[in-house]
Amino acid sequence: MKRRDFVRNAAWAGTAGALAACGNQSSDAAAQRDCEAADPIEWKMVTTWPRDFPGLGTGAARLAENITAMSGGRLTVKVYAGNELVPPFEVFDAVSRGTAEMGHGASYYWKGKIPASQFFIGVPFGIGGHELNGWFYYGGGMELYRETYAPFGVLPFVIGNSSTQAGGWFNKEINSLDDLKGLKMRIPGMGGEVIQRAGGTPVNIPGAELFTALQNGTIDAAEWVGPLNDLAFGLFRAAKYYYYPGWQEPGSALEGLVNIDAWNALPADLQSIVEVACQAAVTDMYAEFDALNGQALRTLIDEHGVELKRFPDEVLDELKRLTNEYLEELAASDPASRKVWDSLKSFSEQTQFNTSIGQQAIFETR
Ligand code: CA
Repeated sequence: MKRRDFVRNAAWAGTAGALAACGNQSSDAAAQRDCEAADPIEWKMVTTWPRDFPGLGTGAARLAENITAMSGGRLTVKVYAGNELVPPFEVFDAVSRGTAEMGHGASYYWKGKIPASQFFIGVPFGIGGHELNGWFYYGGGMELYRETYAPFGVLPFVIGNSSTQAGGWFNKEINSLDDLKGLKMRIPGMGGEVIQRAGGTPVNIPGAELFTALQNGTIDAAEWVGPLNDLAFGLFRAAKYYYYPGWQEPGSALEGLVNIDAWNALPADLQSIVEVACQAAVTDMYAEFDALNGQALRTLIDEHGVELKRFPDEVLDELKRLTNEYLEELAASDPASRKVWDSLKSFSEQTQFNTSIGQQAIFETR
């Protein structure tokens, strides 16, 4: 069954189930009694983000609120920010072992455990967030995502997108490839692998520790998200130059995780509510970033005097070459990565051609 049909069938089956089991119009009195008698299910959602952090923390909070509201309180989800229940980078393990029923984070944080997980946030110099959604929902991406995580007892969902990110914060200008050599930079996932190949030292630290590390010189540079989140962390106080484009994350898909036993214990209508609430969260997070990034960028430049700079073409060309080298090596060394990359790559080639004569061409006329 194609993903398109799966989504529709799951949504309609869930809706029908909800009406039959729990709707006000139900003619099935026994099912209605069962529904009313069932104890509310309580889930914990652990996240990799600081509490109420714009876009990411707020996205987690709204997803939890929506699931709780859409289910009429039959499934309540309580959010725990990073370190409140488990440290940010232990979210996957916590969901896998059932400490929490749900998680909210980013797939590349688990690359040490599952190398292929990195593809599900998108790849450097790759397709944008909207195109990536096409791959997930109509291009076979979601099936591969779930197949990849199944051995860990975890069911993944796309629950947002941070839109095109910024290139990051630097305390020295990047004028040539030599300027990347010896650079200690906070940059997770594939971007970090590429910086390492370019002669730098990638570091992955949770967002909440980023400002201090950049300010006290533990790291020389950092990429975090984009204007909204970077402004919120005050990164402009710790570094002088703000670089673009965000080659490392052209359109990052954020990740929801559900423990498979907790999922299987849900009735079909609650499963459908979780699935559709996750889809709605993607639109919601996109809208928040699109609405607030522009405003935040003006604040960074006009109020804080941030110097905006573009990476030189020579640097971007080499980072792109190193990205392709890394992607092929990863695929050659790991069968799961091979399978996911083959799918994403062929989808990307087809989609990018259409985007080039569509969205890209019209953007260039603005
Ligand atoms: Ca980032």
